[in-house]
Parts: sequence; structure tokens; C-alpha cells
Amino acid sequence: MLLRSTKSFMSDAAEKYLSTLGLSREATSTDIKRAFKELAFQFHPDRNPHNTRAEERFKEVVAAYSYLSGNMEAYQALKQPAKPNSETVEQAQDIYKLLFDLDMAPVPTRHRSLQIELELSLEEAFRGGEKKIYLERHDLCSQCMGRGVDAGAKTFTCTYCFGEGEVDSLSAENSTRECPKCNGRGFISSKGCVACRAKGIKTVPVERKVSFPPGVKPNQILNIPHEGHEFAPGQRSDVHVILSLKKDARFTFDGKDIICEISVELADAALGSKVTVPSLAGPKEINLPHGIQSGEVIRLKGQGLGGDQFVRVWVKTPQVLSEKEKKFIQGFSGNAKKQRSLWWARIKKWIW
Ligand SMILES: [Zn+2]
Ligand SMILES: [Zn+2]
Repeated sequence: MLLRSTKSFMSDAAEKYLSTLGLSREATSTDIKRAFKELAFQFHPDRNPHNTRAEERFKEVVAAYSYLSGNMEAYQALKQPAKPNSETVEQAQDIYKLLFDLDMAPVPTRHRSLQIELELSLEEAFRGGEKKIYLERHDLCSQCMGRGVDAGAKTFTCTYCFGEGEVDSLSAENSTRECPKCNGRGFISSKGCVACRAKGIKTVPVERKVSFPPGVKPNQILNIPHEGHEFAPGQRSDVHVILSLKKDARFTFDGKDIICEISVELADAALGSKVTVPSLAGPKEINLPHGIQSGEVIRLKGQGLGGDQFVRVWVKTPQVLSEKEKKFIQGFSGNAKKQRSLWWARIKKWIW
């Protein structure tokens, strides 16, 4: 682009047009192009229907850019009154053709990665392994090579997204959605490709295998390179596999650790015993230490998802007792009381 203005010599007009684009006299040609694109995008009539103020601003911006880039044709084209029976749309599009040099429809750059979810059981997540996934991915149309345009058709930069293919999302801040005018292609054409119905792509189902490491965490993302949508001939985006974990009534999560609860008989808790607990590696026999209290926790190192497993032990209190058992527990209770008073006596002696 040829710049009429320089730092040493600058006309009043150049300075005025620079300020229209919100730029100072130090602006480079890249700054000018960027500012123009941004403002033209913001005030374009397509995006501001029935807004005369925006239309005026749009014209000012085009005039400023046309002057500063030495391309007054665009400005003249804009000033031409629309003739009802003429190809006014094409005329208006010609402005952008001049500004953006769109001689050939570009292959839309759908770099968006392909995202899928994969649910694993907790055992699978613990062990790691391999699983089949099914992808609905895009292949470029072989007739138009992804352009969606019939050979020889005229193409124009989309005036809604200014060739970006995407516009700001209506729902979420800082996110974008596919441009509704050009369907994400960034341009519109006078005749679409018949083979792909002007979409440029075909959706093709494929099956792949994905391997995941042991100790997978919820929402962990696996990246499979170059297996996603074809965005340029022979080039594919990555596939992001978001791992989720199936709910399992036996376990709860605490970060990388997992927790399970078991109930044990009073005698087993008092005397110590071997008990079988569920674990991600299958049922596991553990030693219950004698004298374990209800609510105490046994730790199984390395048996969580990258962490440990905690087994909370609840001691069952028997509801029905035989005479023999009653006597035994009464004796146990008497012993405990005696021990407590002995202990208290010792403490008192020590304090006073
Ligand atoms: Zn568009
Ligand atoms: Zn096609």
C-alpha cells in the first residue's frame, strides 16, 4: 500500500483522515489497515441496519482509508447512488474487492479442533488403556477443494464478518460463533459448488482408537494430533478428547484421592481382622487393626486416581445380644470404667 503521508510532510487532509481512524501521525500502513478493518467492521450497515449514524461513520471510515491508501476508487464506488435495476449488491461488494483483493475464494480456515467426550469407568481411569472413539469429522469437498464455490464463480468478502468467518457470540462474552451470513466461510459467491451444496465440506464418520494413561482425572483432555477436521488439503486439526468418569456409588472423589466406606462387626473392630474392600484394582483384602474406632480411616497408598484411597470404617453396634454376649460386654464396660478411674487418679496425683 502506498502511503501519501509521511512524518516530515503531512497535509491537513491526511491528518484529518488519520484522526477519523483514531490514529496519530506516527501510524504505519499496518496500523491504518488494521484500524480501517476494525472500524469498517464495527460500523458496516450489515451489522447496523437502519442506523444512519453508523452508516455515516462507515462512509467516513472508507473515505479516510481510501485517501490514506491512495485508492479513491473504493470511495467513488461507495458514493455512487444505487440503481434499482442494477447489480447493487455486486457494486457494493466491489468496494471490498478493491480493499481486500479477493480474487479467488480462499479455503476457509476452520482450524477449530474437534471435541468429543469419552466416559470411562473408574476402573478404566485407574488402569489406563485403550478405547474406541467415533468422530464426525469434516473432509474438504474434492470438487471445490473446500471453497464451496463453482469453478469460475465470482466471490466477495463477506460484509458481515469481514472475511473472519466468525462473529462475536450473542450468548457468552469473549467467545465467537460461526458467521450466519457466510456460514463461517468468510466470503460469499455468485454460484455455489453443487457437489457439496456450497458447504465446502462433507461430514465423514470415522472410528479411531485412543489410549489414555493410568490415573486419569475428571475433565482431563487428551490431544490426538491431525485427526480432526480437514482445514486445508491434507491438513487436519487436532481432536480433543475430554475424559469424564462414570458415577460409581461405591466411591466419592476428593481431588486425586478416592474415598469409600465400609461397615465392620464389633468383634472384628475390637480384635482386628482381615476385610475385603472395593478398590479400583478390584476387591482388595486389607488388615483391620484391632481396636479401630468407628469413623477411623485406613489409607491405601497409590490406589486413587493419581492419589490414594481412603477407607472409612464404621463399626456396627449389635442390636440384639445373647446373655453370654451381654455378660461379656458388661465385663468389658466395667473394665473400661476401672481403667478410666485409675487413669484419673494418676493424673490427679500428678497435678496436685
Ligand atoms: Zn461472514
Ligand atoms: Zn464442493
